[in-house]
Amino acid sequence: MVRKELFGEVPGRVISTYQVDASYRMEDQDSVDVFLGSGFSSGFFAWATPAGHLSRIGLGVYHRNATAYFNRLISMFPGARVLGINGGGIPIRYLKRTYRDSALLVGDAAGIVKPLSGGGIYTGLVSASAAAETLEKALESDDLSARSLSRYQRAWKRRLGMELSFDYLVQRFFTMLSDRALDAIYREVSKPEVVNLINSVGDIDYPSRVVLRVLMKNPSMVFNFLRGK
Ligand SMILES: Cc1cc2nc3c(=O)[nH]c(=O)nc-3n(C[C@H](O)[C@H](O)[C@H](O)COP(=O)(O)OP(=O)(O)OC[C@H]3O[C@@H](n4cnc5c(N)ncnc54)[C@H](O)[C@@H]3O)c2cc1C
Repeated sequence: MVRKELFGEVPGRVISTYQVDASYRMEDQDSVDVFLGSGFSSGFFAWATPAGHLSRIGLGVYHRNATAYFNRLISMFPGARVLGINGGGIPIRYLKRTYRDSALLVGDAAGIVKPLSGGGIYTGLVSASAAAETLEKALESDDLSARSLSRYQRAWKRRLGMELSFDYLVQRFFTMLSDRALDAIYREVSKPEVVNLINSVGDIDYPSRVVLRVLMKNPSMVFNFLRGK
């Protein structure tokens, strides 16, 4: 609402999510299960996160009804009882302009969210920190003009811009993949040498590093993906 009122812009892409807290204890409490493919989502993925005797089970979709996919997902967890429902929209494309006279947008309001995972806590905090630095200077010089606040956008983009733009491109590509192509990717990334590489260079907040390294080590993967599309 703040964005709509002050900036009149909408984020370029919003993922609809549906998540439940379920009474279900996942055997492995140290891993998140991820479900890919047209049975579980369209344009995103489904997940199950362990939380002791509970599990957080949900999915995201693009331009579809998220609840329509939920029955299949929950059937993967026999006996799970739904205790609470949450969810909502996750904007995965940041706005062109995140500042104006006397106003800055941070986090979800600005669409500063990781496009591949929909994670917005880290990126929201990075943007909030850039906003605080900019505002400190602007208030010291008593200048809250758009020109002065444009520093904010430069600051958060320096830290996240390349990563979010690259991840957005990968996300768009991912959306176009068929189940066959996803299976091919899964087979490739399950190879022990690729798993080792992912474990050694992977960083949940900067996935481009691992994607680029995996593709550089396995250039044939790109062709396999394209062929399986
Ligand atoms: C199902 C689901 C699962 C997710 N899982 C993860 C995850 O595992 N990891 C991760 O990093 N991210 C996850 N996210 C994304 C993450 O929750 C958001 O990106 C993050 O919470 C955004 O933080 P924010 O402070 O920008 O916005 P919000 O958390 O939406 O906070 C904005 C606050 O502003 C308040 N507000 C709005 N308008 C006004 C107003 N006019 N005046 C005063 N207050 C107002 C709202 O009530 C709200 O409390 C998930 C999102 C969903 C929907």
